[in-house]
Amino acid sequence: MAVEDLKTHFFTKLGVVKAVNGVSFSVDKGEVVGLVGESGSGKSVTGFSIMGLVDPPGRVVSGRILFKGEDLVQAGERRMRSLRGRRIAMIFQDPMMTLNPVLRIDTQMMEAVKAHADVSTQSARERAREALVRVGIPSPDERLKAYPHQFSGGMRQRVAIATALLHKPDLIVADEPTTALDVTIQGQILYEVQKLCRETGMSLIWITHDLSVVAGLADRICVMYAGVIVETGATSDVLDRSMHPYTKGLIESVPSRNRRGQPLAQIPGMTPSLLNLPPGCSFHPRCPRADEVCLAEPAIAEPAGTGHSVRCFYPHLEQG
Ligand code: SF4
Repeated sequence: MAVEDLKTHFFTKLGVVKAVNGVSFSVDKGEVVGLVGESGSGKSVTGFSIMGLVDPPGRVVSGRILFKGEDLVQAGERRMRSLRGRRIAMIFQDPMMTLNPVLRIDTQMMEAVKAHADVSTQSARERAREALVRVGIPSPDERLKAYPHQFSGGMRQRVAIATALLHKPDLIVADEPTTALDVTIQGQILYEVQKLCRETGMSLIWITHDLSVVAGLADRICVMYAGVIVETGATSDVLDRSMHPYTKGLIESVPSRNRRGQPLAQIPGMTPSLLNLPPGCSFHPRCPRADEVCLAEPAIAEPAGTGHSVRCFYPHLEQG
Protein backbone atom coordinates (compact mmCIF):
# COMPACT_ATOMS: atom_id res chain seq x y z
CA MET A 1 0.00 0.00 0.00
CA ALA A 2 1.37 3.42 -0.88
CA VAL A 3 0.12 6.88 0.02
CA GLU A 4 1.30 9.54 -2.42
CA ASP A 5 1.16 13.27 -1.68
CA LEU A 6 -2.15 12.91 0.16
CA LYS A 7 -3.98 16.09 1.09
CA THR A 8 -7.11 15.96 3.23
CA HIS A 9 -8.65 19.31 4.09
CA PHE A 10 -11.68 20.38 6.13
CA PHE A 11 -13.71 23.25 4.74
CA THR A 12 -15.07 24.99 7.85
CA LYS A 13 -16.79 28.36 8.35
CA LEU A 14 -13.53 29.67 9.83
CA GLY A 15 -11.43 28.59 6.86
CA VAL A 16 -9.67 25.56 5.39
CA VAL A 17 -8.10 23.22 7.96
CA LYS A 18 -5.21 21.47 6.21
CA ALA A 19 -5.20 18.39 8.44
CA VAL A 20 -3.12 16.30 6.01
CA ASN A 21 -1.06 18.40 3.66
CA GLY A 22 1.11 16.26 1.38
CA VAL A 23 1.78 12.95 3.10
CA SER A 24 3.63 10.12 1.32
CA PHE A 25 4.65 6.74 2.71
CA SER A 26 4.30 3.05 1.92
CA VAL A 27 3.69 -0.18 3.84
CA ASP A 28 5.04 -3.49 2.58
CA LYS A 29 3.46 -6.90 3.06
CA GLY A 30 3.86 -8.07 6.65
CA GLU A 31 5.35 -4.72 7.67
CA VAL A 32 4.37 -2.58 10.66
CA VAL A 33 4.61 1.19 10.14
CA GLY A 34 4.17 3.53 13.10
CA LEU A 35 2.54 6.91 12.41
CA VAL A 36 3.59 9.09 15.35
CA GLY A 37 2.76 12.63 16.39
CA GLU A 38 0.96 14.89 18.85
CA SER A 39 -2.80 15.48 18.75
CA GLY A 40 -3.61 17.55 15.70
CA SER A 41 -0.61 16.35 13.67
CA GLY A 42 -2.88 14.70 11.08
CA LYS A 43 -2.06 11.07 11.85
CA SER A 44 -5.65 9.92 12.52
CA VAL A 45 -7.01 11.86 9.53
CA THR A 46 -4.41 10.04 7.40
CA GLY A 47 -5.79 6.71 8.72
CA PHE A 48 -9.40 7.75 8.13
CA SER A 49 -8.50 8.92 4.60
CA ILE A 50 -7.06 5.47 3.79
CA MET A 51 -10.28 3.87 5.04
CA GLY A 52 -12.44 6.32 3.05
CA LEU A 53 -14.05 7.44 6.31
CA VAL A 54 -13.52 11.21 6.19
CA ASP A 55 -16.86 12.92 6.71
CA PRO A 56 -17.89 16.38 5.42
CA PRO A 57 -16.78 19.12 5.74
CA GLY A 58 -13.56 17.13 5.20
CA ARG A 59 -12.45 15.50 1.98
CA VAL A 60 -9.38 14.18 0.24
CA VAL A 61 -8.50 17.03 -2.10
CA SER A 62 -5.57 15.42 -3.92
CA GLY A 63 -3.05 12.61 -3.89
CA ARG A 64 -3.32 8.85 -4.32
CA ILE A 65 -3.80 5.88 -1.98
CA LEU A 66 -2.63 2.87 -3.94
CA PHE A 67 -3.84 -0.47 -2.62
CA LYS A 68 -2.95 -3.49 -4.75
CA GLY A 69 -2.75 -1.25 -7.82
CA GLU A 70 -6.10 0.47 -7.21
CA ASP A 71 -6.36 4.15 -6.23
CA LEU A 72 -8.72 4.24 -3.24
CA VAL A 73 -9.18 8.01 -3.60
CA GLN A 74 -10.98 7.33 -6.88
CA ALA A 75 -12.93 4.30 -5.59
CA GLY A 76 -16.60 5.09 -4.93
CA GLU A 77 -18.38 4.44 -1.63
CA ARG A 78 -19.77 1.15 -2.92
CA ARG A 79 -16.28 -0.17 -3.74
CA MET A 80 -14.92 1.05 -0.39
CA ARG A 81 -17.73 -0.77 1.42
CA SER A 82 -16.73 -4.00 -0.27
CA LEU A 83 -13.07 -3.48 0.72
CA ARG A 84 -13.62 -2.26 4.29
CA GLY A 85 -13.72 -5.12 6.76
CA ARG A 86 -12.64 -7.60 4.08
CA ARG A 87 -9.31 -6.41 2.58
CA ILE A 88 -8.66 -3.35 4.80
CA ALA A 89 -9.85 -2.98 8.37
CA MET A 90 -9.62 -0.42 11.15
CA ILE A 91 -9.20 -0.77 14.89
CA PHE A 92 -10.38 2.27 16.85
CA GLN A 93 -9.13 3.68 20.14
CA ASP A 94 -12.49 2.92 21.74
CA PRO A 95 -13.58 -0.69 21.06
CA MET A 96 -17.20 0.41 21.52
CA MET A 97 -16.84 2.17 18.14
CA THR A 98 -16.74 -1.39 16.75
CA LEU A 99 -18.97 -3.26 19.21
CA ASN A 100 -22.71 -2.89 19.64
CA PRO A 101 -23.47 -2.85 23.40
CA VAL A 102 -26.87 -4.57 23.08
CA LEU A 103 -25.80 -7.53 20.93
CA ARG A 104 -23.95 -10.67 21.97
CA ILE A 105 -20.41 -11.02 20.66
CA ASP A 106 -21.32 -14.05 18.51
CA THR A 107 -24.22 -12.18 16.86
CA GLN A 108 -22.05 -9.22 15.85
CA MET A 109 -19.00 -11.22 14.80
CA MET A 110 -21.06 -13.65 12.71
CA GLU A 111 -22.84 -10.71 11.09
CA ALA A 112 -19.41 -9.25 10.21
CA VAL A 113 -18.37 -12.59 8.65
CA LYS A 114 -21.59 -12.89 6.63
CA ALA A 115 -21.36 -9.29 5.38
CA HIS A 116 -18.51 -10.36 3.08
CA ALA A 117 -18.74 -14.16 2.82
CA ASP A 118 -21.52 -16.48 1.73
CA VAL A 119 -21.09 -19.03 4.51
CA SER A 120 -23.37 -21.06 6.79
CA THR A 121 -24.15 -19.85 10.32
CA GLN A 122 -22.04 -22.68 11.67
CA SER A 123 -18.93 -21.75 9.65
CA ALA A 124 -19.43 -18.05 10.52
CA ARG A 125 -19.49 -19.04 14.19
CA GLU A 126 -16.35 -21.15 13.75
CA ARG A 127 -14.56 -18.22 12.09
CA ALA A 128 -15.54 -15.94 14.95
CA ARG A 129 -14.30 -18.51 17.44
CA GLU A 130 -10.96 -18.89 15.61
CA ALA A 131 -10.48 -15.09 15.59
CA LEU A 132 -11.04 -14.93 19.37
CA VAL A 133 -8.46 -17.70 19.87
CA ARG A 134 -5.99 -15.84 17.62
CA VAL A 135 -6.06 -12.76 19.88
CA GLY A 136 -5.62 -14.83 23.03
CA ILE A 137 -9.16 -14.81 24.45
CA PRO A 138 -9.60 -17.80 26.81
CA SER A 139 -12.78 -19.96 26.75
CA PRO A 140 -13.87 -18.59 23.36
CA ASP A 141 -17.11 -20.64 23.25
CA GLU A 142 -18.34 -19.03 26.46
CA ARG A 143 -17.05 -15.57 25.53
CA LEU A 144 -18.95 -15.68 22.24
CA LYS A 145 -22.21 -15.81 24.20
CA ALA A 146 -21.29 -12.73 26.30
CA TYR A 147 -22.22 -9.07 25.82
CA PRO A 148 -19.53 -6.35 25.50
CA HIS A 149 -20.20 -5.01 29.04
CA GLN A 150 -19.18 -8.41 30.46
CA PHE A 151 -15.60 -7.90 29.18
CA SER A 152 -12.83 -5.80 30.69
CA GLY A 153 -11.45 -2.89 28.61
CA GLY A 154 -8.48 -4.99 27.43
CA MET A 155 -10.69 -7.95 26.49
CA ARG A 156 -13.11 -5.67 24.62
CA GLN A 157 -10.20 -4.30 22.59
CA ARG A 158 -9.10 -7.88 21.83
CA VAL A 159 -12.63 -8.64 20.57
CA ALA A 160 -12.48 -5.51 18.37
CA ILE A 161 -9.11 -6.66 17.01
CA ALA A 162 -10.52 -10.19 16.46
CA THR A 163 -13.43 -8.65 14.51
CA ALA A 164 -10.95 -6.72 12.34
CA LEU A 165 -9.11 -10.01 11.67
CA LEU A 166 -12.19 -12.03 10.66
CA HIS A 167 -11.54 -11.79 6.94
CA LYS A 168 -7.74 -11.89 7.25
CA PRO A 169 -7.36 -8.41 5.72
CA ASP A 170 -4.21 -7.38 3.84
CA LEU A 171 -4.01 -4.11 5.76
CA ILE A 172 -5.10 -2.97 9.20
CA VAL A 173 -5.13 0.68 10.28
CA ALA A 174 -4.99 0.84 14.08
CA ASP A 175 -5.80 4.25 15.59
CA GLU A 176 -4.31 4.37 19.11
CA PRO A 177 -6.03 1.09 20.10
CA THR A 178 -4.06 0.53 23.30
CA THR A 179 -3.94 4.12 24.64
CA ALA A 180 -6.71 3.54 27.19
CA LEU A 181 -5.29 0.21 28.44
CA ASP A 182 -2.86 -0.45 31.27
CA VAL A 183 0.72 -1.17 30.25
CA THR A 184 0.70 -4.94 30.85
CA ILE A 185 -2.40 -5.46 28.69
CA GLN A 186 -0.95 -3.03 26.13
CA GLY A 187 2.28 -5.07 26.02
CA GLN A 188 0.36 -8.33 25.45
CA ILE A 189 -1.75 -6.85 22.66
CA LEU A 190 1.28 -5.31 20.92
CA TYR A 191 3.10 -8.65 21.07
CA GLU A 192 0.14 -10.56 19.66
CA VAL A 193 -0.55 -8.06 16.86
CA GLN A 194 3.09 -8.06 15.79
CA LYS A 195 3.12 -11.88 15.79
CA LEU A 196 -0.01 -11.93 13.62
CA CYS A 197 1.64 -9.64 11.05
CA ARG A 198 4.72 -11.87 10.90
CA GLU A 199 2.66 -15.06 10.60
CA THR A 200 -0.01 -13.91 8.15
CA GLY A 201 1.80 -11.28 6.06
CA MET A 202 -0.79 -8.69 7.09
CA SER A 203 0.42 -5.07 6.88
CA LEU A 204 -0.25 -2.75 9.79
CA ILE A 205 -0.32 1.02 10.24
CA TRP A 206 -0.19 1.78 13.96
CA ILE A 207 -1.18 5.36 14.81
CA THR A 208 0.00 6.65 18.17
CA HIS A 209 1.32 9.65 20.09
CA ASP A 210 3.50 7.31 22.17
CA LEU A 211 6.99 6.67 20.82
CA SER A 212 7.58 3.88 23.34
CA VAL A 213 4.70 1.89 21.80
CA VAL A 214 6.12 1.94 18.28
CA ALA A 215 9.70 1.43 19.51
CA GLY A 216 9.02 -2.26 20.13
CA LEU A 217 6.38 -2.78 17.47
CA ALA A 218 7.09 -0.96 14.21
CA ASP A 219 9.61 -1.77 11.48
CA ARG A 220 9.49 1.82 10.27
CA ILE A 221 8.31 5.10 11.75
CA CYS A 222 6.83 8.21 10.16
CA VAL A 223 6.86 11.22 12.51
CA MET A 224 4.08 13.70 11.67
CA TYR A 225 3.84 17.38 12.54
CA ALA A 226 1.22 19.88 11.36
CA GLY A 227 -0.09 17.66 8.57
CA VAL A 228 3.23 16.52 7.06
CA ILE A 229 5.82 13.80 7.70
CA VAL A 230 8.92 15.45 9.16
CA GLU A 231 11.08 12.35 9.62
CA THR A 232 10.83 8.77 8.42
CA GLY A 233 12.99 5.67 8.35
CA ALA A 234 13.69 2.35 10.06
CA THR A 235 12.60 2.46 13.70
CA SER A 236 16.13 2.08 15.08
CA ASP A 237 17.47 4.85 12.77
CA VAL A 238 14.73 7.32 13.72
CA LEU A 239 14.90 6.60 17.45
CA ASP A 240 18.68 6.19 17.86
CA ARG A 241 19.86 8.79 15.32
CA SER A 242 16.94 11.21 15.05
CA MET A 243 17.70 14.23 12.88
CA HIS A 244 14.62 16.45 13.19
CA PRO A 245 14.41 18.79 16.21
CA TYR A 246 10.78 17.75 16.73
CA THR A 247 11.61 14.02 16.85
CA LYS A 248 14.49 14.78 19.21
CA GLY A 249 12.11 16.78 21.43
CA LEU A 250 9.59 13.93 21.48
CA ILE A 251 12.28 11.39 22.44
CA GLU A 252 13.74 13.62 25.16
CA SER A 253 10.32 14.23 26.67
CA VAL A 254 9.87 10.49 27.39
CA PRO A 255 10.91 9.70 31.01
CA SER A 256 14.03 7.54 31.11
CA ARG A 257 15.99 5.82 33.88
CA ASN A 258 19.20 7.16 32.30
CA ARG A 259 18.15 10.75 33.02
CA ARG A 260 17.07 10.13 36.61
CA GLY A 261 17.17 13.33 38.70
CA GLN A 262 17.23 15.61 35.67
CA PRO A 263 14.25 17.79 34.79
CA LEU A 264 12.05 16.29 32.09
CA ALA A 265 12.64 18.02 28.75
CA GLN A 266 9.67 19.49 26.95
CA ILE A 267 9.03 21.01 23.54
CA PRO A 268 8.18 24.69 24.12
CA GLY A 269 4.95 26.13 22.75
CA MET A 270 1.94 24.43 21.22
CA THR A 271 1.14 22.68 17.97
CA PRO A 272 0.10 25.37 15.49
CA SER A 273 -3.49 25.85 14.38
CA LEU A 274 -4.00 23.96 11.14
CA LEU A 275 -6.25 26.84 10.06
CA ASN A 276 -3.37 29.25 10.17
CA LEU A 277 -0.01 27.53 9.79
CA PRO A 278 3.15 29.56 10.29
CA PRO A 279 5.00 30.35 7.04
CA GLY A 280 7.91 28.13 5.97
CA CYS A 281 8.75 25.28 8.31
CA SER A 282 5.68 24.86 10.57
CA PHE A 283 7.92 23.90 13.48
CA HIS A 284 9.98 27.12 13.42
CA PRO A 285 8.15 28.95 16.28
CA ARG A 286 9.11 26.05 18.61
CA CYS A 287 12.45 25.05 17.15
CA PRO A 288 15.73 25.78 19.00
CA ARG A 289 17.66 25.73 15.71
CA ALA A 290 15.38 28.00 13.68
CA ASP A 291 16.74 31.03 11.82
CA GLU A 292 15.54 33.15 8.89
CA VAL A 293 16.29 30.31 6.42
CA CYS A 294 13.45 28.36 8.04
CA LEU A 295 10.91 30.90 6.78
CA ALA A 296 11.12 28.94 3.53
CA GLU A 297 9.49 25.49 3.37
CA PRO A 298 11.96 22.60 3.71
CA ALA A 299 11.52 19.53 1.48
CA ILE A 300 11.90 15.99 2.80
CA ALA A 301 15.29 14.56 1.84
CA GLU A 302 17.74 11.85 2.84
CA PRO A 303 21.08 13.27 4.02
CA ALA A 304 23.92 11.12 2.66
CA GLY A 305 24.90 8.17 4.84
CA THR A 306 21.95 8.47 7.25
CA GLY A 307 19.61 5.90 5.67
CA HIS A 308 16.53 7.88 6.54
CA SER A 309 14.71 11.06 5.54
CA VAL A 310 14.04 14.35 7.26
CA ARG A 311 12.26 17.63 6.47
CA CYS A 312 14.68 20.19 7.92
CA PHE A 313 17.29 22.70 6.73
CA TYR A 314 19.56 21.90 9.69
CA PRO A 315 19.15 18.19 10.48
CA HIS A 316 21.13 16.87 13.41
CA LEU A 317 23.82 14.64 11.93
CA GLU A 318 25.99 12.28 13.98
CA GLN A 319 29.65 13.36 13.96
CA GLY A 320 32.43 11.08 12.71
FE1 SF4 B 1 13.91 23.84 12.92
FE2 SF4 B 1 14.51 25.13 10.67
FE3 SF4 B 1 14.67 22.48 10.78
FE4 SF4 B 1 12.29 23.67 10.80
S1 SF4 B 1 13.79 23.70 9.12
S2 SF4 B 1 12.94 22.01 12.09
S3 SF4 B 1 12.74 25.48 12.00
S4 SF4 B 1 15.91 23.94 11.93
